[in-house]
Amino acid sequence: MVAPRLRSRSKKRKYRRTPGGETVIHYDAKKHSRHHCARCGGVLDGTPSGTPIEIKRMKRSERVPERPYAGVLCSGCTEKLMRYKTRFEIKFNHLEFKDMELQRDLTLEKFLPRGWWKEISTEVEEK
Ligand SMILES: [Zn+2]
Repeated sequence: MVAPRLRSRSKKRKYRRTPGGETVIHYDAKKHSRHHCARCGGVLDGTPSGTPIEIKRMKRSERVPERPYAGVLCSGCTEKLMRYKTRFEIKFNHLEFKDMELQRDLTLEKFLPRGWWKEISTEVEEK
């Protein structure tokens, strides 16, 4: 009987033939799943999959891309978030866009810092 810690099916079994002709089982840890975008659920590019200690031994630049929301949102969702925030800034800071209709998207807004609209609305009061 194998050791109790090896009876788990969360380890990958590899059958290996030894020089003596015996077949033995090597138990390897299964690879961890990839990181996913918090908004759309797509696989995040540029993030490695591995055990926490393997990832911790990597350099920071190997772990996540160097841009805002890296490791949290995919590049598409990050761009949508930036465009969403910019649309609000334009509407409240430029009078010619005052009547622009905007629909709120809470799936994007929840990733913005708390009170993000306050700095936009105070600029309007000054004008
Ligand atoms: Zn996404």
